[in-house]
Amino acid sequence: MRPSKDEALRDERYRLRIEGFGVGTWDLDVTTRELEWSETARSLFGVPRDQPVTYELFLSLLEPPDRDRIDAAIKRVAEGQGKLDVSFKIPLAAGRMQWIRARGGLIADDAGVASHISGIFLDIGEMKLLEEALRTRESHLRSILDTIPDAMIVINGRGIMQFFSSAAERLFGYTEREAIGQNVSILMPEPDRSRHDGYIARYRSSREPHIIGIGRIVTGKRRDGTTFPMHLSVGEMQSAGEPYFTGFVRDLTEHQQTQARLQQLQSELVHISRLSAMGEMASALAHELNQPLAAISNYMKGSRRLLEGSTDANAAKIGNAMERAAEQALRAGQIIRRLRDFVSRGESEKRVESLSKLIEEAGALGLAGAREQNVQLRFNLNPDADLVLADRVQIQQVVVNLFRNALEAMAQSERRELVAVNRKVADDMIEIEVSDTGTGFPDDVLPNLFQTFFTTKETGMGVGLSISRSIIEAHGGRMWAENNAAGGATFRFTLPAATN
Ligand code: ADP
Repeated sequence: MRPSKDEALRDERYRLRIEGFGVGTWDLDVTTRELEWSETARSLFGVPRDQPVTYELFLSLLEPPDRDRIDAAIKRVAEGQGKLDVSFKIPLAAGRMQWIRARGGLIADDAGVASHISGIFLDIGEMKLLEEALRTRESHLRSILDTIPDAMIVINGRGIMQFFSSAAERLFGYTEREAIGQNVSILMPEPDRSRHDGYIARYRSSREPHIIGIGRIVTGKRRDGTTFPMHLSVGEMQSAGEPYFTGFVRDLTEHQQTQARLQQLQSELVHISRLSAMGEMASALAHELNQPLAAISNYMKGSRRLLEGSTDANAAKIGNAMERAAEQALRAGQIIRRLRDFVSRGESEKRVESLSKLIEEAGALGLAGAREQNVQLRFNLNPDADLVLADRVQIQQVVVNLFRNALEAMAQSERRELVAVNRKVADDMIEIEVSDTGTGFPDDVLPNLFQTFFTTKETGMGVGLSISRSIIEAHGGRMWAENNAAGGATFRFTLPAATN
């Protein structure tokens, strides 16, 4: 039926209104391929008013790869196969691109023959920009998630996995495709596995968090059934009215191994320092006892000579006993000396060791908590002077002792810097320098520093530095100290360089 005049007017008003919102209209005669465009359609395509519009012109405005696709889509609509809905971009002047979405459908003419496709052009530039921005953000997010070492898993309110990061793939052994859609409980051992749905339900009804926003150490289960310790922190979010939970998982296996290694190191160090302290004590004792023992032995010998002139019947027996006593006094001295030798030789095992590794490990032990005390650590370790011939545990003991003393000396300082440097010096030796910005040494301290039992601390033992020097000397090196320009202390020691 032909539209009435009123209807035609109304249609025209509608058309004008939508044109006003940047929607262009078009009409294609399928038989003659005549094309009609509205003003807005022309401006969307950048075609001037006076230029005649043809189907060929339309196709020529498209980018070559779009031409066949859109021509084919229009043909399909002309054959009565569905509606037209295609998007494409048109290169405009000055390198600008106009994104357009064309929608349309076949309509019948007066005679009821379907001979026209009529439709609209929509400016979708803004949408595409948004899409682009979204895609960029999405790929940013993905690359961040791919690089953070923590695994990330998103589940919905029923515990079904929605997102599974690449770190999660590596950690649990499932691929993203396998994991998504499954219940997150497959990543846990029993009893959590069968209880997890209940945990979520309980949280959703009580809102009482047990793990959300708190973080916990729990056990994870890999695809191959093995389990491992992990730190889990969970965040909650709402999207489109639905709750989602995001879990960040950190594998603690390595952390625990490091912890165990540190503990082992620490106990080795404690053991060795007890042994060295004993050695130091024995040597001090030997020194202190030597004189009285020698005196005893001399007095005995003197008394024996006096006895020789005596007529006492027991003189011979007394003389013999005194001789024995003198021998025993000498022996006591020897025993102490031997003990010292034994301990100072210790079970020292010299190997080729990497200084940087050795110092870093010692740092982990001796400097625990240093960062919290605002101490700046600088290990400027030169890789060309890295290999030394040393007993690792003993040298670490020296370094730990230096670090601890430095931290103590800087406790009241405003500037707190601890620097460790190594360099090659003559005679194939490597020098290690540890400097701090602490109190430095008063004049009366410097000469006594390395003496056994010398300490200026209330709870000090005063054995650390003397043991350290013995250790270094047993390695064929030297150890000394001086005040530095920053007002703090600088300790230096040398070790033989290893050639490999
Ligand atoms: P302790 O630390 O038990 O006193 P040490 O033999 O390690 O034993 O140190 C002996 C003394 O050397 C300390 O009491 C302290 O006076 C001084 N000393 C050691 N290191 C430093 C340092 N980095 N800065 C200032 N004084 C230090």
